[in-house]
Amino acid sequence: MGKVLEMVELGQPILRKKAKPVSDIFAPHIKVLCENMLATLEFANGVGLAAPQVGELLQIFIVCPDDEPIFIFNPKITYYSKRTVKDWEGCLSIPGIRGYVPRSDVIRIEFTDITGERICAEAEDFIARVFQHEYDHLLGKVFLDRLSSNKDIITEKEYKALGDED
Ligand SMILES: [Zn+2]
Repeated sequence: MGKVLEMVELGQPILRKKAKPVSDIFAPHIKVLCENMLATLEFANGVGLAAPQVGELLQIFIVCPDDEPIFIFNPKITYYSKRTVKDWEGCLSIPGIRGYVPRSDVIRIEFTDITGERICAEAEDFIARVFQHEYDHLLGKVFLDRLSSNKDIITEKEYKALGDED
């Protein structure tokens, strides 16, 4: 079992740096990092986690839109649809606030999976949003950089109040 790692929060310089490609995804320390990232994501009850968020400047993230975690290595988003949609996002590195973030509704992504195979896939809607959010972490960007207005930032408390109205 992996161990829960400390979360890097907004303000720590590493969150603003570009991550480096993983040269050998089968290296023992990468396997350990992946196990620890998964434990950290599960502990935080999140849908995605990128390596820079736990202090490793490597091109790795996990997305877990349902129960099955997907490990993504050395990704590239090769296509962003012009059409964007706005929806609420939070980030484990930016606790306490939410943003109403415009994202492409369809993307194409290329990445190496946990078996070492290079995968090309198209993603849309929620999963496309999660991919774009996590991919941004590898570029040193956070969701705040993608907002169209500062008025699209609200507190977690107000976000929860929105949910209660639905
Ligand atoms: Zn994030």
